[in-house]
Amino acid sequence: MQFSDFSLDKRLLDSLKHMGITTPTEIQEQALPIALAGKDLMASSKTGSGKTLAFLLPAMQRIISTRALSKKDPRVLILLPTRELAQQVYGQLRLLVANTQYKAMSVLGGENFNDQAKGLAREPHFIVATPGRIADHLQQRHLFLNGLELLILDEADRMLDLGFAPQLKAINDAADHKRRQTLMFSATLDHQSINDIATTLLNNPSHVAIGASYAEHKDIEQKMLFADHLDHKQALLSHLLKQPENKQTIVFTATRADTERLASLLAEQGFSTSALSGELKQSARNQIMDQFSRGQQQILVTTDVASRGLDLINVSLVVNFDMPKFAEEYVHRIGRTGRAGAKGVAVSLVGPKDWQSFLQVQSFLRKNFEFSAIDGLPAKFSGLTKQASTKAVNAKPKAKSATAAKAKQKPKAAPKRDKRFITGVDVGDAPMRRKAKPLPIIEQDNKDSED
Ligand code: ADP
Ligand code: MG
Repeated sequence: MQFSDFSLDKRLLDSLKHMGITTPTEIQEQALPIALAGKDLMASSKTGSGKTLAFLLPAMQRIISTRALSKKDPRVLILLPTRELAQQVYGQLRLLVANTQYKAMSVLGGENFNDQAKGLAREPHFIVATPGRIADHLQQRHLFLNGLELLILDEADRMLDLGFAPQLKAINDAADHKRRQTLMFSATLDHQSINDIATTLLNNPSHVAIGASYAEHKDIEQKMLFADHLDHKQALLSHLLKQPENKQTIVFTATRADTERLASLLAEQGFSTSALSGELKQSARNQIMDQFSRGQQQILVTTDVASRGLDLINVSLVVNFDMPKFAEEYVHRIGRTGRAGAKGVAVSLVGPKDWQSFLQVQSFLRKNFEFSAIDGLPAKFSGLTKQASTKAVNAKPKAKSATAAKAKQKPKAAPKRDKRFITGVDVGDAPMRRKAKPLPIIEQDNKDSED
């Protein structure tokens, strides 16, 4: 199948040609007919499989081929959880819009509010935004969504994780009319919280899921390494970064403080490194992303602010310096490599404080990982429960009951461990339930990174 088989405007086909894109990916092939038919849709497919065009093309087509419901109001609103991702999607949309008479605008947290109000007064047809900022403009009556024809939520589950449900509901209420179409996309759409919000936002949606969210990504080689402590993690990381086959690397840490510290350390070791976290000014965030995407830096150290959606073609290695707080973020983090058919490697450093998160990732992915080792950097740590169970299995019959009893006691020790690092995370992340109250520092991390 080719894009020309869909009823797409010639200008869109020309733009695709210009981008060198001819054959739709599976998600595009399945999502396009539903979205083009004006139906609501919940769609998921693996990272790097072309979800952006799966919503941008039908959005463009709808605007080109139908009459506006309102002359003033935006016709399409695309919401994303982070500013960097919104900028990326806006960049792709601009390529498509450039060929037409339509206007697009991005409305992101961290930018000048009054300038945005002026921009909104120029009545753009398309808005790409982070939800907090658009909700603020709605409240200030800088824009109205009565005429909104298409609402798109990319990485919808992440927007909920970040606490944007009230803003999403406000946006939904402002655009609550029968002719609105709503599309929701992510690589991970299978949580209860998503179903709840989907019931509010979508009207009798079609569902498209290309593979399950836990299905193995065949272009990403996943490796697990045991790590004993912070110094050991740093030694492992240095070793990984020195591998000659690396192009660019993204290193994920648990907290912002860690990104800064680790980036300085890597810079001291001679790696060209920058640190991206939500606390930086937007201009600094832009500069860092700009330099990294141009290949001017080899390594980007960051938090989950960069786990979603970013499409950086030269990233060949992702390192989880600390395991992520939510298991599904693991899927998104490693998905920063192995995109659009390219191959990538994802290495996770698993220390005692990461163990619970590691187990959650295993259970999310329905997979048992084998651990690798690096010559000269062996780990003493070999997992908490594994240790206990291995002891129990290897013990002689007589000693078995005693060891088994010990093993039985092990789980009791776990809550203590959790508590210890809930109070002072430095490496690793707390094994938290989805709705668990986050650590203050992590809350901050999430909060100002997108609004
Ligand atoms: P996802 O949102 O599923 O993670 P993206 O939409 O970011 O993936 O697309 C990943 C990469 O694939 C982008 O660089 C995009 O330009 C490219 N791409 C998208 N559709 C196609 C296609 N049909 N053929 C080839 N490359 C594509
Ligand atoms: Mg995407």
